[in-house]
Amino acid sequence: MAATIAEEVSQTSQKRPVYMDYQATTPTDPRVLEAMLPWFTEQFGNPHSRSHSVGWQAEEAVEGARRQVASLIGADPREIVFTSGATEAGNLALKGAAYYHRGRKDHIVTCVTEHKCIVETVAQLEREGFSATVVPVGTSGRVYPQAIADAITPRTLMVSVMAANHEIGVLQPLSEIGRICRERDVLFHTDAAQAFGKIPIDVGSMALDLVSLSGHKVYAPMGIGALYVRRRPRVRIAPLFSGGGQERGMRSGTLPTPLCVGFGAAAEIAAREMDDEAERLRGLRDRFLSAVQLIAPDVRINGDMEHRLPGNLNLSFVGVDGEGLMARLSDIALSSGSACTSASLEPSYVLHAIGVEDELAHNSIRFGFGRFTTDEEVDFAVRRIAEEISGISSCRS
Ligand SMILES: *Cc1c(COP(=O)(O)O)cnc(C)c1O
Repeated sequence: MAATIAEEVSQTSQKRPVYMDYQATTPTDPRVLEAMLPWFTEQFGNPHSRSHSVGWQAEEAVEGARRQVASLIGADPREIVFTSGATEAGNLALKGAAYYHRGRKDHIVTCVTEHKCIVETVAQLEREGFSATVVPVGTSGRVYPQAIADAITPRTLMVSVMAANHEIGVLQPLSEIGRICRERDVLFHTDAAQAFGKIPIDVGSMALDLVSLSGHKVYAPMGIGALYVRRRPRVRIAPLFSGGGQERGMRSGTLPTPLCVGFGAAAEIAAREMDDEAERLRGLRDRFLSAVQLIAPDVRINGDMEHRLPGNLNLSFVGVDGEGLMARLSDIALSSGSACTSASLEPSYVLHAIGVEDELAHNSIRFGFGRFTTDEEVDFAVRRIAEEISGISSCRS
């Protein structure tokens, strides 16, 4: 039964466009799906039911998943709070800490390229009377640790800087920032939605106090994530939900056993395969980039190439309308650096922050490579770009 569904999923996916949008989401790994299935139907207990073995078994499964997730970031399982994803985790980290410390410390330091779930959470906290300093990044997309240090004041409660950027894949200098925060007695939160399971994250050596994680970026399903909350020295956060006091009082609500199990299985697989996978993805990415540079010599790379997720490229095609190119590449699932197709005509704030002019930002495309990307798919994408690029005119602006 389990194998049948997993097989069906992989068969249907073969008829879809070539998927090159792994920073938007990842497919659930069939091994993850298989681990999840019994927890929907056969072992469906409420993990918080204390009075019978149906509940105990679910609880055991959830606790196993908690250990698997914790292990991948060098944490204690008791430091993992399951959430619905990284958006909820980021909200819980920032609002939870802000509300807990209200009246004592009220200033947050963050950086300009953060994901909307952090940007908008900080904006909401500002409307509620907290203050924030948004530190710029260099043209490489990296934040200067010294700029973080300079922004910290005696009122600073927390620094929040992401591990890896969702658009340009750039990795931030977490260890350096962690050291600064520890010295200044400031909490350090990182949004590791893109980094978890792709690059090593260690809460000890990086001096992390709070870490937001997402399942669906790491081959687990949508709707599950976690917040790491340091126990020693203890990090205190106010809960955002009122309820049964699950997750040590920090996140009330019945845990979704199948999703937790899936997230744990995904973490376990990543722990085993991360190094080899990173090497393979770097190979695919470099193969793709060299080929594209031959077809389009005027292509610009957005973001640092050295400190970067192995499976990410963000390219601006000079003189080529990125939206038009993407529209013609409908057999490849891609994401652009502009929101031309949505209600807003604003180019990406991340590209803007690294100094890419609006026209080039509109002409940028994010290429995401992942676990199921093949050599053939990469070559197909290169061929299709070569075909389309000649017939494309310049972007209106
Ligand atoms: C996807 C993503 C999020 C949001 O995660 P969800 O689990 O979808 O809420 C947050 N931050 C970054 C960097 C992401 O890539």
